[in-house]
Amino acid sequence: MTSRATVVLRNCATYDVDRIEELAGEALDLFDIRPFGKTLIKPNVVMSGEKFPHSHTRVEFVEGVVRALQQRDDDVTEMAVGERCGISIPTRYAFKGAGFNEMFERTGVEHYHFEEETQVEIPLRHPGRLRDRIYVPEPVANADFFVNVPKFKAHPWTTVTFGMKNYIGIQDDRHRLIDHDHLLNEKVRDLQFVLQPQFCAIDAIIAGEGRMLTPLPFDMGLAIFGNDQLAFDAVCCHILGIDPLSVDHLRLAHEAGFGTVDLQEIDIVGDLTLAEAQQRAEGFRVGLIRIEDYFADSKINAYAGPPPSADSVDATTTDVDDREYCWGGCPGAMQEAIELIRLFDDETDAKMPITHIVFGAYDGDIDANEGERVVFIGDCTSFAGEVAGQKVDIRSVYQHRRNTEPLDAQHTDMFARMAKTNVKFLKERNEQVIELRGCPVSVAEQLLALVSLGGLKNPFLDPAEATRFGSSYLSWRTQTAIKRLRREPYVRAGEAPRGEAATAL
Ligand code: SF4
Repeated sequence: MTSRATVVLRNCATYDVDRIEELAGEALDLFDIRPFGKTLIKPNVVMSGEKFPHSHTRVEFVEGVVRALQQRDDDVTEMAVGERCGISIPTRYAFKGAGFNEMFERTGVEHYHFEEETQVEIPLRHPGRLRDRIYVPEPVANADFFVNVPKFKAHPWTTVTFGMKNYIGIQDDRHRLIDHDHLLNEKVRDLQFVLQPQFCAIDAIIAGEGRMLTPLPFDMGLAIFGNDQLAFDAVCCHILGIDPLSVDHLRLAHEAGFGTVDLQEIDIVGDLTLAEAQQRAEGFRVGLIRIEDYFADSKINAYAGPPPSADSVDATTTDVDDREYCWGGCPGAMQEAIELIRLFDDETDAKMPITHIVFGAYDGDIDANEGERVVFIGDCTSFAGEVAGQKVDIRSVYQHRRNTEPLDAQHTDMFARMAKTNVKFLKERNEQVIELRGCPVSVAEQLLALVSLGGLKNPFLDPAEATRFGSSYLSWRTQTAIKRLRREPYVRAGEAPRGEAATAL
């Protein structure tokens, strides 16, 4: 039994469910913890399918953890796996593509698609919060025992994604995209106040290198377990040779009192030492590449100025942020968008015409010739100058977060987004300068913009994916409509602690 922050490093060469169950069980026994009440397991299934084998926590890993928990049932009233996957696609689609549905049947565990659930208002009171209230799905708000089962991956917005960053999937799209901008790290910190896991287990058997949706495989052969999420993430950073305090969302969580990142205060036990784990991770590349550098060798020329100041009141301000770059919003989404298209269209780079994309308050030159499209992306983008000899004046339409209300956020249907983007680019096909607004402009929207600009294959309409996507989409819309007839879309947790006294708004 241990009460100190402890991280267990275990050898696990393959996705053998029996072995993973054994390792997870031994870690639970070491920590002397057993699941009880409403037990919720949160994997990272941001994306799935044949083309995305390394983007998500593998189903064998989740099944091993589920079986270990089931073996140690201490009055569990419900055991469920829940997730909201990425880029606005239905979680049904992601679960199906990752083989989760068969696992749900084999283990008898329940499952939730978070975007289909009633959303619960959670009041926040900590200093420095972005908002006074945030919204999470009911199974998250009501969980008694929470198990975080992320994938060990790089991330273009936050350097890495381990346990704490996996919380971005505890919100549905409407709320996930709110504050998913230059203050994304603060958002991830704020989400930690909703709940903390009693048990963490990360799939580092084949880690995901370089990117988040389309990572490259990196054989690490590790299963890592922890009883303290911040310490767990800190050790994962150290495995990569990264100072955890240089990862902003971990630094912010540490400053907010979520625990230690100091190796002197963390017990590291298991089959191998930290130094041995570090040897296995040698050469692992993380994310965090500025957009100009990312597209340096392509026909896309990227330009980025700073995002708005955190103190900016409205679009009329000329204040810019001292961070110089929006790591949590539009530029990173563009990187994921192009990589997604490249997976589905081998000729992406050959077909793409010379195009210029501009983010933030940009005050440099735009080196565009006549006929080359220039796309200003994001609400905060602004520019005053010449494009191919013509005067251009683009003004920020950014609205400060204090002027945006989460309850007003609307879900935007993927097919509606496709239609809107197609119509926009058709109508503006002869315009050299295009504005694509939003904060953020999502991966899906930027992907659709690139598809229109380059005449590229649309991954959402790929024949190999269309059937799974179409049937998941229809089930999602139908189930959501049925549930809304029966239940309120929102409830308020009021001033009571999490999970208590939910009342209809
Ligand atoms: S509009 Fe885009 S680039 Fe600007 S602050 Fe929002 S997310 Fe960042």
